[in-house]
Order: sequence, then C-alpha cells, then structure tokens
Amino acid sequence: MNGNMSGGAGETAPRLWERNIRRVTPYVPGEQPQGSRLIKLNTNENPYPPAPGVCRALAQLDAAALRKYPDPAASRLVRALADRYGLAPEQVFTGVGSDDVLAMAFLTFFHSDRPVLFPDVTYSFYPVWAELFGIPYETCPLTGDFAIDPRDYDRPNGGVIFPNPNAPTGRGLALAQVEDILRHNQDAVVIVDEAYVDFGGESALPLLDRYGNLLVVQTFSKSRSMAGMRIGFAFGAPELIRAMQDVKYSYNSYTMNLPAILAGEAAVRDEAYFRETVAKIVATREHAKERLAALGFSFPDSQANFLFIRHRSVPAEELYGALRANAIYVRYFRAPRTSEYLRVTIGTDAEMEALYAFLEEYLAGRAGRA
Ligand code: PMP
Repeated sequence: MNGNMSGGAGETAPRLWERNIRRVTPYVPGEQPQGSRLIKLNTNENPYPPAPGVCRALAQLDAAALRKYPDPAASRLVRALADRYGLAPEQVFTGVGSDDVLAMAFLTFFHSDRPVLFPDVTYSFYPVWAELFGIPYETCPLTGDFAIDPRDYDRPNGGVIFPNPNAPTGRGLALAQVEDILRHNQDAVVIVDEAYVDFGGESALPLLDRYGNLLVVQTFSKSRSMAGMRIGFAFGAPELIRAMQDVKYSYNSYTMNLPAILAGEAAVRDEAYFRETVAKIVATREHAKERLAALGFSFPDSQANFLFIRHRSVPAEELYGALRANAIYVRYFRAPRTSEYLRVTIGTDAEMEALYAFLEEYLAGRAGRA
C-alpha cells in the first residue's frame, strides 16, 4: 500500500503533483457580453458584416466535407493572401487568429538568453507569451505622448515586437522609423504586429525584400470583420516562414479548419468590399475625433479602429462604469499609464451617435451636480 494513503482519519495525502503544475497569469480578454441591445465598443471588432462572398462560401460548404481533415497548409487561403499582397506562397503563414500566429512567432524566434524588447504600453498578450514560454523580456517606455522612440531599441536583445499602429494608443509609427528599428536590429527577428494597419497605418510590407529578419503579422479580425472565424497571418522571408511551420507542425498540424480556409479565401478576394468598409470606419473615426474633442476628451491621434480617450475632468473608471450601466461597453485597463484612459472601438455612425448622446447628457448632469 502507498504509505501516503495509509494515514488515519482526517489525514490527506500530500498533493505532490501540485508542484508540477505550470502556473501562469493569463491574458484577460475583453468582455464578450451577449445580447443585441447593447453597444459593443470594447474589443475592436468591425461593426460591419464580412464580405458577401464569405456568407456564400459558408452556405455552399458541404457538411460532408468535414469528415476529412483540412489541408494542413491552408493552401487556398495562403494562395489568396499571396496574390493579394504580391508575395510568394512561401512567404505566407496562417493561423487561428493573429494571437495564434504571434504565439508561434514567439516560440519560434524568441529563443535567446537576451531579452525581447517591446513597449511598456502595448498589447498585453506579449508579456503573457513571454512568461509562458520562459522568454526573458524588457519593456521600453513610450514617450510622454505615447510614441515609440526607435532609439530605445538600440541595445542588445533577443528580438523586438511592437504593434503598428500601437494598441491601445492607436498611434502609428512612420515607415522610416520602422525601418530605423530594423536597420539597428539585424541580428534578431523584428515582428511588426499590424492588426490595425488597414485603418491608416503604414505597413512594413515594402521592407520585406530588404530585411530577412522582418515578420509582419496581420489579422482578419478587424479590417475584414471576421473576429469570430479566427484567422491571422504572417509575411516574412521563406526561411522564417519555414521555421514557423516546423514549430507549428510540432504542436498542432491542423490549425486552420475548412470553413475558415474557405471563408478567409472569399474575404481576401473581395477587394472592393474591404476598401469600402475600411473607408467607412476611417470616416467615422475622423468624425469621432471632432465630436469627442468637443466633449472635452483628448487622445493620441489614432490610425486604428479605436480611440484612446481621456476626459479633462471625469475619471476614466467612473465613465467606464456609467457607460456600462447604460449598455455601452468600452475597454478600461487598470494599469500604470493607462488607468486615466478608455479605449473606444469605432462602431457604426448610429452606435457612435448613441455614445456621444450618452456622454453629452452624463457630462452635463455631472457638471450640474458639481
Ligand atoms: N495584436 C493586437 C495588437 C491586438 O490588439 C489583437 C486583438 N486583441 C491581436 C493582435 C489579436 O487579434 P486576433 O487574434 O483576433 O487576430
């Protein structure tokens, strides 16, 4: 009999297996409240539906085809992306949302004793992957007005990653500055997370030819209105893509399911719809800048599909609660440097009008009570 089990009543065996458990502090995704009567401006989704071709591709999908495993290389989707961006299929990697692509990239490229560098205010998943994979990292503080200073990345490192435009600030980095970072970091992989680039940022894609250590990551979740389908992709030199594929096939071969491959392909092939919805969101965002400024908010000049706003007198956390109580969801990050701000996704014009109307009334009521 196992000695540990032989104790008398009330004695329990020491739970030695507990020390073998990997303990991590997980990334906390934004709330996904259910219901149709709320205004959801908290996770940077696109307020417009996916391209009509996506709906057709899904309707035409024969459920019998699900019997078989999907194409592990997601070739149809890879081909569509290669065509759209003028690249070779060997330069394209796809995954289950850009979170999956980024996780694979961390695992593949950040395999050094030197710290990986990223901004202090940025996508909060980066430190989580670093911790999970045991990757050393250091953060580089953004300037007072939330800009990335390329000079901060001029030091020995095991890799660099930053979003462009950055999240949750919305600020974009000019291509010349992205290239500056690459030029000073040719001994490690530099990942540019372009989740929001289609809304006005400058893509690093034109630099791919000159920098074999550049990986550009994008997603279908924002500009292509398909957050629910989970499709992300990366562009890089064939050598980088091959290395990522080797890691992926060592982890989970069949990441992309058949509906995602077909729907993703259909989305990429509809360029006109893509341009139209992106233009609508950009127009709504530019109008939102005027309206919110008039209500007493300030913000970095966003090139993304969200604004990072701060009111001149009302604390962000109070506004967050008031909006939420009225079924308007925005994102609040209770962390140093971000706790005075709310991140507001750009919705439809009607949703934004409802937001301005609520804020106007709330701020006037509060001023009256003061
Ligand atoms: N990068 C950034 C900067 C993001 O804000 C997000 C959205 N949470 C992602 C990547 C991941 O998005 P997805 O996995 O939906 O492609």
